[in-house]
Amino acid sequence: MSVRSTTVSLVLVALVATSAALLSSRDDATGAGSRSGGESDTSEAASTAQDTTPGGTDARGIPRYISRPFSARERRLLLDAYGVDDPQWLYLSDSTESAILKYDSKEKRCKTCYVDSYRVGYLSMRRVGEIWDDFEVRMRHMRRADFPPSAARVDVSLDDLDPEARTAFTALLDAARRADFALSVRETYRSPDREALLFSEGHGRTYTATSMHSYGRAVDIVVGDGRVNRPSTRADWVRFRRFVLSWGNGSFRVIGPPDHTWDWPHVELATDNIGFRSIDAALAFAAACTTDSARAHPPASAALGGAVSDPCVFVPHLR
Ligand SMILES: [Zn+2]
Repeated sequence: MSVRSTTVSLVLVALVATSAALLSSRDDATGAGSRSGGESDTSEAASTAQDTTPGGTDARGIPRYISRPFSARERRLLLDAYGVDDPQWLYLSDSTESAILKYDSKEKRCKTCYVDSYRVGYLSMRRVGEIWDDFEVRMRHMRRADFPPSAARVDVSLDDLDPEARTAFTALLDAARRADFALSVRETYRSPDREALLFSEGHGRTYTATSMHSYGRAVDIVVGDGRVNRPSTRADWVRFRRFVLSWGNGSFRVIGPPDHTWDWPHVELATDNIGFRSIDAALAFAAACTTDSARAHPPASAALGGAVSDPCVFVPHLR
């Protein structure tokens, strides 16, 4: 929070407080992501009836898209601020109170149907005003040589994390190693342009283009030989993921349940300061960040890891 120096920061503080107050307490699973493999189910999502506990995915692995009407003004704000042109595909990432607002650029219709998901308001290489569909097309046409050399650099240093995350991950890794886990760090900070490069090469499968790695709050940690198809490695990895979730007062998150995920190494440190907890919070922030004066004073791209300067993104404070 401390780095955001424009009036936007004040708005954000208010929003965090407001959205926290609006939250009801919720139960259920951990997990920063929503995608998982599994059985196919091609039936239509019809989950709104059970949305007294909103967020996450239903039993068929389909996101519980937020069901509400949007006025023309709200649609324009979501488009201008976040590149969201189909607000009916917005949803909360899970059912916990730290869930964040996410967006599928198209409807996910079954558990194994692949769609790209984005964290609303997160740093990325999406241009101001660009919708996510257009971002995806642009990325598909980019080759490795089109990205700056820095995008190819793999950072494995904990020193480049957000200061709070640096301390927390150092303590986590120390404790886990003392508990006899064999661990190696595969990647820590990832610039938005590296995130975009990986997205373009991986067709979004593992990389979302909107990542906590770009905030210095995620570390990819490999257990043992990293071969998750080996039963012994897999068992160790499941044990490690349980360790991560139980350690540090539940401040760390993994993607999916401990024993089933599409991204085994990813661990991130949760924060209330990044991500929207409700549509209303996102709309209020959009109203503030899309004004002419806010647009005239975007955060410097240097502070955004080289990303497009945009007053509508959450600014990291990496140093
Ligand atoms: Zn990761």
